[in-house]
Amino acid sequence: MPAVDRNPLPITDLLDWSDRDKSLLLSVLTGLLMLGFLGWLLFTVNYTRFGEQFLSVEGAGLARDIFLFNVIGWLLLSCWGMALHKTKRHSVAYPNVCIHFFGFSFLGIGYVMGLYNPIVGLVLVGSPLTGFILFDFKRVTCSLVIHTVMVLAIYALIVQGKLQYAPMLKADPVTKDLVSVYWVNSMIAFATPFLAMVFGFTYVLLRRWQIREKQIRALAVTDPLTGLDNRRALFDQFSYELARSRRSGNPVSVCVMDLDHFKQINDRYGHAIGDKVLLMVARVLRDCLRETDRIGRIGGEEFMLLMPETDQQGAEKVIERCRQRLNDTPVEVEGQAPFHISASFGVTCSGTGDTLGEEQLFSRADQALYLAKEAGRNRMAFWSLSQEAVPA
Ligand code: GH3
Ligand code: MG
Ligand code: MG
Repeated sequence: MPAVDRNPLPITDLLDWSDRDKSLLLSVLTGLLMLGFLGWLLFTVNYTRFGEQFLSVEGAGLARDIFLFNVIGWLLLSCWGMALHKTKRHSVAYPNVCIHFFGFSFLGIGYVMGLYNPIVGLVLVGSPLTGFILFDFKRVTCSLVIHTVMVLAIYALIVQGKLQYAPMLKADPVTKDLVSVYWVNSMIAFATPFLAMVFGFTYVLLRRWQIREKQIRALAVTDPLTGLDNRRALFDQFSYELARSRRSGNPVSVCVMDLDHFKQINDRYGHAIGDKVLLMVARVLRDCLRETDRIGRIGGEEFMLLMPETDQQGAEKVIERCRQRLNDTPVEVEGQAPFHISASFGVTCSGTGDTLGEEQLFSRADQALYLAKEAGRNRMAFWSLSQEAVPA
C-alpha cells in the first residue's frame, strides 16, 4: 500500500490512507471506546445496585486499572500517530504497535469480564475482519495468531484453576434463576460502538469496491478521448441488434466513417487540435443520430454508426445529415483562421433473411468506405447486394 500524504483526508478514501493514518484513526476510536468502558465501570461501581451485588472490590479495581491502562495506552498511541501525521513521517513500528496493542487491550478486558461472553466472540470475529480491510494480511494474521493463542492459554489456566474466571464479577449476572437486565444492557452498549466500527469500515470497503467496479466497467466499454462506445461495446451491441433483426425482420444499417486527410490536420495544427477535432466529430454525430442509434470510435479517426431498424434509404438520410453537419462545423484554432473537415462513409444494411454476422457486415461497410475514399472522399458509398460497393 503506497503511503499517501493528503490533507484533509476524506473518510471515503479511507482504504487509500497510509497505514500511519489508518492506525491513527484506530487509536482515536479505540481510545474513545476504552474511555467509555472506564466511564461505565466507574459509574457502575459508584452509583448502581448492580455494582454492589455483582462486582468484587478487588476485581473492579483490577478492571479499572486495565481500562485506565488501555485509555492511557491509546492516548499515547494517538499522540504518536498525530506527531507522525503532522511531520508527514511514516513509521513501520507504529501500525505494528497499534495492531498488537488492539489485541492486547481486548484480551485484558475479556479476561476481567469473563471469556465466555458474547463481546469476546464479537471482538474475535470483528477485529480480524476490520484488520484485513484496513491493513495487510500478514500483519493482522500475526496478531490474530498471537492473541488467539493467548485466549486459549487463559482458558487453559482458568480450567486448571490457576486463574480466576471473570475476576471482576463476584456473582454470575446471567444464570438460570437470575438475568441482570443491567448487565445484558451494558453488554449490548459495549458491543454497539464496536459493531458500528466494524460495519463502518466494511461499508467503506464495499463502497470503494462498487465505485471501482463501475469505473472499470465503464473503462472497458468507453473510448477515453471522446466518451463514445469503444469497438468492443459497439460490436456487442451490433451482435444483439442483428439477433433482434433476425427475429423481427427489420434491417440494421451499419456505417464505418473515416475522417479525410486527418493526418494533415495533425501535421499542420498539432495533435491537440487533432484531438479537439475528434471531440467535435463525436459531438456532431451524437447530435445527428437518434437515441436508439449507437456511435463508437473504433480506431484513431474511424467511427462506427449502428442504426437499428433502419433500411438503406433511412441510413442514407441520416448519414447525409452527418456528412453535411461535419462539413459545416468550423474548427476554431487560436490565432489562426478556422478550418473545415470532411469524412467518408461506407454503409451496409443487413437484408431480410440475412445470416451474415457482425464481422462480415462490418467488413462490407469497410469495403464501401474504401470505395468512397477512392471516389474522391467527403461522400458515402453503399455495399450493394450485387457484391459491389457503389458510391451514392
Ligand atoms: P484518409 O483520408 O485516407 O483517411 O487519410 P488520413 O490522413 O485521414 O488517414 P491516415 O490513416 O493516413 O492517418 C490517420 C491519422 O490519424 C494518423 C494518426 O496520427 C491520426 N490519429 C490516430 N489516432 C489519433 C488520436 O487519437 N488523436 C489524434 N490527434 N490523431 C490521431
Ligand atoms: Mg482518415
Ligand atoms: Mg483511418
